[in-house]
Amino acid sequence: SATASDTRFGHPKGLFYLFFAELWERFSFYGMKALLILYMTKQLLFSDDMSIGIFAAYMSLVYVTPVLGGIIADHYIGYRKAIFLGGILMALGHFFLTIELPVFFYGSLALIIVGNGFFKPNISTFVGALYNEEDKRRDSGFTIFYMGINIGGAVAPLLCAWFAEVYGWHYGFMLAGFGMLLGLFYFYRGTNKNVFQDKGNVPDQKVYNEKFLGLNKGQLVTLGAFLAVPVFAIIVKFNQYEHYIVWIATIAITGMMIYIYRSVGTIARKRLLVTAYFTILMALFWAIFEQAGSSLTLFADRNINLVGLNAAQTNSINSGFIILLAIPFSWLWTVLIKKNKNPNSAIKAGLGLFLLGLGFIVFAMSANSVDAFAKTDMWYLFVGYLILTVGELCISPIGLSKMTELSPKKYLAFIMGVFFSASFYGHFFAGKIAKLTTVSETEENMFASGIFGQITETITGLTPNFSGTNGAAFEQLYQYVSVYA
Ligand code: GLN
Repeated sequence: SATASDTRFGHPKGLFYLFFAELWERFSFYGMKALLILYMTKQLLFSDDMSIGIFAAYMSLVYVTPVLGGIIADHYIGYRKAIFLGGILMALGHFFLTIELPVFFYGSLALIIVGNGFFKPNISTFVGALYNEEDKRRDSGFTIFYMGINIGGAVAPLLCAWFAEVYGWHYGFMLAGFGMLLGLFYFYRGTNKNVFQDKGNVPDQKVYNEKFLGLNKGQLVTLGAFLAVPVFAIIVKFNQYEHYIVWIATIAITGMMIYIYRSVGTIARKRLLVTAYFTILMALFWAIFEQAGSSLTLFADRNINLVGLNAAQTNSINSGFIILLAIPFSWLWTVLIKKNKNPNSAIKAGLGLFLLGLGFIVFAMSANSVDAFAKTDMWYLFVGYLILTVGELCISPIGLSKMTELSPKKYLAFIMGVFFSASFYGHFFAGKIAKLTTVSETEENMFASGIFGQITETITGLTPNFSGTNGAAFEQLYQYVSVYA
């Protein structure tokens, strides 16, 4: 059994169990994500429009349920039970995807949406629980944890897509499901070896045991989770109503934040405002960063002379850079602490946003050196992604760390859920931004080539020329550049 002083690489031993649990959970999540849109268009023969609608609804809902999963863990069941429940729901979701029937398809997506709500905020909060209030290793610990996330995120699309191609879609999803089971196994090992000590248990055993309809809180929550599945399945299917969810979530989250604000003391209030501020910055960051999966992938496909990677595989560049840079960054923060020069989190976040902008300027600059087919060199893509990734490392793991440091103890996981809702908003707005980059004669696009176009000309000195040998591709490039700039 472990003691508080039991460390590995200078961090609490529990960190490494959570590292592997989250690595495998993210393996399943990103492996399935890589297959999803192609599975819909090629196997289920859904239209592009329908597939994109379902994909967007799924990707955003997955990041709104953590708000609820967080509250429930804080007040009733604790992080451990929430993580187990979430992991089991997600594993079921991945395995049910292997059954090719509409009920199972939408049901599976909903199982993962609900499961992630229980898993993601609570495992992240759990990392924070391993460090004392004053412990300066927190940022560094989260940076290591973030590397686990991205090892899963980098390897899974390659492996699951390979399985899907060689053996069939269902085997790709099955592999994702086994990934999730492995994640649960690592978490179970951690609890079994007592590396988490007394952390993450039921917050109040008396409240937990009180029966309602003959069920204790754990049983009630499990029942509620399964009842929520058909509801989310329906929302995903009829995803054109998604903007209502944005309104409902915004009102609910704001209401809850005001309630917490009023119920805590002065210092806690200031800290709470910082968490809200960080979440808004993070939503802004994801709205732009998440172009990666959509318009940036199309940009790679249409306007980059690709060598060695296909357009889909360029999605691994970001995770690859995180794997390379996470340890050096974690180490950098530790060294800076020792020298008493660790930049505060606000500076790190500002740097993150600045680098995000800089990365996109690199993409936009690529328009200065295109060939006759409107294609440009691949190194633009690498340098742009490198800068974006350094930016991500300055804001995202630091944000996670801040949430666990600054939230009122009673609402830790809820605030972490709110932090993840930044991705919910991010995906929602990223979709709108991505649409500005498409080539069609809508008013929005006229707007893009008007205002954005002028800005682009000023920054890059590029004058659009749509009459080349490859007019459409040029126009497409020009649209990307206008929006990115
Ligand atoms: N890629 C990171 C992860 O999967 C960040 C995602 C997020 O915060 N939206 O955890």
